[in-house]
Amino acid sequence: MQPVRRNILLTPGPATTTDRVKRAQVVPDICPREKEFGQLIETVCIELTRIVADPESYSTVLFGGSGTAAVESILSSAVHHGDLVLIVNNGAYGKRMCEMAEAYGLDHLVFHSPPHVALDLTALKSLLNKSRRKITHLAVVHHETTTGLLNDIEAIGALCRSHRIHLIVDAISSFAAIPIDMREMNIHYLAASSNKNLQAMPGISFVIAETELLERKQPSQPRNYYLNLHAQYRFFSETRQTRFTPPVQTLYALKQAIEELKEEGIEQRYSRYQKSWETLIAGVTRLGLKYIASDHLHSKLVTSIFEPNVEGYNFKEMHDYLHSRGYTIYPGKLDDFRTFRIANIGDITCKDIESFLKLLETYFKRKGFIKED
Ligand SMILES: *Cc1c(COP(=O)(O)O)cnc(C)c1O
Repeated sequence: MQPVRRNILLTPGPATTTDRVKRAQVVPDICPREKEFGQLIETVCIELTRIVADPESYSTVLFGGSGTAAVESILSSAVHHGDLVLIVNNGAYGKRMCEMAEAYGLDHLVFHSPPHVALDLTALKSLLNKSRRKITHLAVVHHETTTGLLNDIEAIGALCRSHRIHLIVDAISSFAAIPIDMREMNIHYLAASSNKNLQAMPGISFVIAETELLERKQPSQPRNYYLNLHAQYRFFSETRQTRFTPPVQTLYALKQAIEELKEEGIEQRYSRYQKSWETLIAGVTRLGLKYIASDHLHSKLVTSIFEPNVEGYNFKEMHDYLHSRGYTIYPGKLDDFRTFRIANIGDITCKDIESFLKLLETYFKRKGFIKED
C-alpha cells in the first residue's frame, strides 16, 4: 500500500498519526449496536482506564465529541444544585470551564492566576480554608495547552483530600504522555480525548471516574441530556451499547492507537516528546526567539513562543509558508502576550523538528529577520 502523504502537525492536537492508525478506520460497515462492536468499546474503555487507574474500581465513559464534551459532561453532571465548584483559571482552558459554569448556571468561584507562573498553592489553600460556604468540587486543567504550564495536580489533590473536595481534572493535553495515577493524586473525574497524545483521530471524548461515583443515585432533574455522564455510563453497562451513535470508524483507529501506545510505553513516548522539545528549544533560541518559560513546570509538549518584534512579521504568511511545505504551526491563545505555538506531540521525532527548524531558518533569512551567514 502507498503511504499517505505525511504532514507534520506541530499543533496541540489533532496530532500526526501513523498510517496504521489511519488505515485501521477502513473496516467493513457495522451497526454499532452489534455485540462485536460493544466488545470493541469495552476493550477500549478498559485500556483507557488502565492508563491512569485500576479498571477494577475506575471506569471510562465515552462520548462522540471533541475534548470539550468530556469536560462539559463532568461539570454539568457532577456539580448538583446546592454544590459549589471552585474553578482554577490560569489559561484559556481554565477560562473555558468558567464559561461552562456560567452557561449551566453552576454555583461557582474562580481562582485566578497568571498564565505563565506556578499556581500559588498557599493562596489556594487559604481560599479553601476561608470559604464560608462548603466547596464541594474543584476543577483544574492539568496541562494548560495555552502556555505549556503544568499545574501541580498532586499538591492540589492533597489539598482536596484534606478538605473533602471532589477533584475534576481536564487532562486532555497531558493524558497518555505525562504519567497520572488517579487514586494517588486523588482525582475523582478526569477528562481526555482521542486526538492528542493518544495519537488517534479526533471525535472521541471520554471521562474516567471512580465506578462507585458513576453508579451513585442522581437527582431526578439533571442539567443535561446528551452529555449526561451517569446515563451514558448506566446505558452502556446495562446494554453494551452506546446511548447514541458513536463515531464507529474512529473507535477502530483509537483501538489501534492504544496498541501502539502499549508498544511504545507512556514513559518512552514522553521521552520521545521531550527530546523533540529540547531540539525545538535549542533551534528557536538560535533564531533569537523567546518563549514562555515556566522552567521546571513546563510540560515540554507545547511551547508558546513570543512573536518576533520585527518589521514584516506576519503569522499568517509564516504559517502559509510552512504549511505549504508540510508543517502546520498554531496561533497563540493568550490575551496579554502576542505568541504563536509549536507543539511536539504526535507521531513525530526530533528529526522532524530539525527539518522544521531548517525551514523556519530559511524563511527568517528570506524575510531578513536574521542575517544570511
Ligand atoms: C485540546 C484541549 C481541550 C479540548 O479541545 P477540543 O477542541 O474540544 O478538543 C480542552 N482542554 C485542554 C487543556 C486542551 O488542551
